[in-house]
Amino acid sequence: MFSPSRNMALIKLALSIPKNTTSLGRHFVSRQMASKVQPLTQLNDDELMMKESVAKLASQIIAPFVKKMDIQQSFEPDVVNALFSNGLMGLEIDQEYGGAGASFMSAIITIEELAKIDPSVSVFCDIQNTLINTLVRKLGTQEQKEKYLPKLAQDTVGSFCLSEAESGSDAFSLKTRAIKTGDHYIINGTKMWISSSEIAGVYLVMANVDPKAGYKGITCFIVDQITPGLSVGKKEDKLGIRASSTCAVHFDNVQVPASNILGELGQGYKYAIGMLNEGRIGIGAQMVGLAQGCLDATVPYTLERTQFGKQIFDFQAMQHQIAQVATQIECARLLVYNAARLKEAGLPFVKQAAMAKYFASEVAALTTSKCIEWMGGVGFTKDYPVEKFYRDCKIGTIYEGTSNIQLNTIAKYIKQEYQS
Ligand SMILES: Cc1cc2nc3c(=O)[nH]c(=O)nc-3n(C[C@H](O)[C@H](O)[C@H](O)COP(=O)(O)OP(=O)(O)OC[C@H]3O[C@@H](n4cnc5c(N)ncnc54)[C@H](O)[C@@H]3O)c2cc1C
Repeated sequence: MFSPSRNMALIKLALSIPKNTTSLGRHFVSRQMASKVQPLTQLNDDELMMKESVAKLASQIIAPFVKKMDIQQSFEPDVVNALFSNGLMGLEIDQEYGGAGASFMSAIITIEELAKIDPSVSVFCDIQNTLINTLVRKLGTQEQKEKYLPKLAQDTVGSFCLSEAESGSDAFSLKTRAIKTGDHYIINGTKMWISSSEIAGVYLVMANVDPKAGYKGITCFIVDQITPGLSVGKKEDKLGIRASSTCAVHFDNVQVPASNILGELGQGYKYAIGMLNEGRIGIGAQMVGLAQGCLDATVPYTLERTQFGKQIFDFQAMQHQIAQVATQIECARLLVYNAARLKEAGLPFVKQAAMAKYFASEVAALTTSKCIEWMGGVGFTKDYPVEKFYRDCKIGTIYEGTSNIQLNTIAKYIKQEYQS
């Protein structure tokens, strides 16, 4: 931990070293300074406890249902209840509102651990924590926080409604309108691809209150599921993360009081960008966990399976590929943890978050493809979890900004850095 007094002591020590001090003296100072910076993967006590308890919950409560939930395309109530009752749906919500009062890094570790067992459950927890709860925590009025945070922490699922049929990557060209009538707004439009919408109790909806102002009319509204005119439409029949519901959500003359505006009028575009920038670290963590879970499910098989009289792991061609993939996963994890720790330290993190999401989704695709190959024919069947990881990983290159959009962001920062 950073200790100002200890740091000052080191600075004084450095200043007091005469110019002709031997290199040994200088090394002493730099080693002391280096000890202030922790390795990225070293977890503090709280983070470690979170990692261990989530891993236990995932293997004991979620794992038995993974295959069933993938087939039925919905979560088991026991799984959802376990997430809520163990505080995983309100990780960063303050304890005074019934949340766990945990850190962003703890949320990232939770998302990673859940994805090792089921990437669908992982994204369910990720969206609730990194998008929904964060928006309400950061922007909510006292009244909104008191009304929604305890629910979000304890039993209510939230959905983030930005995308539409004609506005995906170009999200701010959205067509959903909110027209003011007295103290209320009337919302009309249809959102597409909305995660968790089948079971959500509250929707954070981006709608334009002033199309003439372009994206500067976009405003975030809190809409309760029971509001007349809100209906959940077609559920997508997806390649992967099938247990996580993805549906259209229709708003047909949905009337909400002006007090349901989250944050300021016309600032929705800023909030959406800000949340997605943070959220991308979560998707990076989901992809790292997915890749690790797939590797963990595969390596034991390569140690058991024999061909030509020896374990297939012992063929050097296999060892090199496994070592390469394990290295890639470690690189992705370092990117994700670095972005998370930058964010937590209040330092610029947008480029690093885009890199983390982009790279982690590439690594997840490589890992899952290789794992199927390493298992041969059985890897191609539903008898082992690797085929599901292979299907689940593809979404990492699409939602919360496609890989091209991440590369655009990274390139924008590179250009700025070289031009300044
Ligand atoms: C399973 C799932 C869950 C989702 N959950 C949510 C949710 O909860 N809430 C929500 O609001 N949305 C959600 N989405 C929507 C998701 O964010 C969008 O699908 C995504 O932003 C891409 O938009 P699009 O599908 O319209 O693709 P498009 O924007 O049409 O992109 C198609 C292709 O064009 C490329 N492209 C587009 N613009 C550019 C550019 N400027 N430069 C280079 N290439 C470009 C893209 O990279 C991509 O390869 C979800 C989507 C899925 C599939």
